[in-house]
Amino acid sequence: MSGEQLQAELQALESRYTELAARQLKLDLTRGKPSAAQVALSDALDGILGGNYRAADGTDVRNYGGLDGLPEAKQLFAGMLEMPADAILIGGNSSLTLMYAVIDFALSFGLRGPESAWGNSDEVKFLCPVPGYDRHFAICEHLGIEMVPVPMLATGPDMDAVEKLVAADPAIKGMWCVPRFSNPTGCVYSRATVERLAQLGNIAGDDFVLMYDNAYAVHTLYPDAEPLASLYAACERHGTLDSVFQFGSTSKITFAGAGVAFMGSSPANLAAFKQHLGFQSIGPDKVNQLRHVRFLGDAEGLAALMGKHAELLRPRFEAVLEILEAELAGTGMGEWLSPRGGYFISFNTRPGLAKTVVKLAADVGVALTPAGATFPYGNDPEDSNIRLAPSFPSLEDVQATAEVFALCVKLASVRQRLA
Ligand code: PLP
Repeated sequence: MSGEQLQAELQALESRYTELAARQLKLDLTRGKPSAAQVALSDALDGILGGNYRAADGTDVRNYGGLDGLPEAKQLFAGMLEMPADAILIGGNSSLTLMYAVIDFALSFGLRGPESAWGNSDEVKFLCPVPGYDRHFAICEHLGIEMVPVPMLATGPDMDAVEKLVAADPAIKGMWCVPRFSNPTGCVYSRATVERLAQLGNIAGDDFVLMYDNAYAVHTLYPDAEPLASLYAACERHGTLDSVFQFGSTSKITFAGAGVAFMGSSPANLAAFKQHLGFQSIGPDKVNQLRHVRFLGDAEGLAALMGKHAELLRPRFEAVLEILEAELAGTGMGEWLSPRGGYFISFNTRPGLAKTVVKLAADVGVALTPAGATFPYGNDPEDSNIRLAPSFPSLEDVQATAEVFALCVKLASVRQRLA
């Protein structure tokens, strides 16, 4: 556009923005949580036991015990992580709690005995693919672990950078991964990436831990969504099972606040962790585990439920993507990916504009995830990434929000251009 055309465009955008402000909107696209209709899909959980509190082996699930979970729950969730049932431990309602507990244990007590405690070293570092999940970063920050960003590519973390860093710096004790429909980019790690991740345990020291958070393992929006290669099988081949903890939960399958969380690892890791866990609890909520087993049934039951979630989620994702495409494609004002699953759309503005766009939206009543939240310490060096979470609001609100968002991106971009 010529200078004059840009000025005219700016005026048009400013007046549309002023009109929006007058509408006193109150919209929110910040929360990556399931909608009311989604959680209602699992209402049958309530009362499903019908007075039958016996697990398959006769255990009365109302009573104490069973520190690592019911066998049938292990069986069900092992399938989600593509691991054998005896490599699984079932926790409470939150996989984040399990992740925190593993890191806390490795820091304070050591996965391989007191000598191996990370806390014995002055420096403990974690590799963090960026953009990534703010709560992973918050755990590191809270526990005093220094975060080292590595770029996220369409195939997963930049493995050349990861391998170089792990080989060069023994203070790097771990790495975060969200391998399928990553939060927030939505990418699925390629087979080659999974293969290389499985070999990190042979490059790093034996106290290295890959925190493999498969939160969106079965959360597809389309039946042909890209599958994820099995990390467990690759680790078996490379003899590195001890270097990986895998996590999952039913938070975005059944009830986000009352689901079942689980993790999988090697026999040595599970034994060490269980021994530690025994000091904290006599056992988890087995009633909820049994309710989930009866409700979900098997892999087919799980897939059928995920299909119903996809029916609710797909229109919301498509609404955002259609508006981005119509308003911003080919303008050079932003880049985004079209995820085939998960809960987020990741948008990159032109450098230096993410905070401005989020503020412009907030000033007309549209809440977006704070700029920088997808980076360690809230610091996006390019000030460019914004995470959009379309699952929770109504379809109409998602559409209205995406329109405001596109307008704010345009306004910020044109203002920057003319500055
Ligand atoms: N891991 C990732 C990547 C997530 O995006 C989320 C929620 O948004 C969680 C974990 C939370 O899991 P949970 O509810 O099991 O603690």
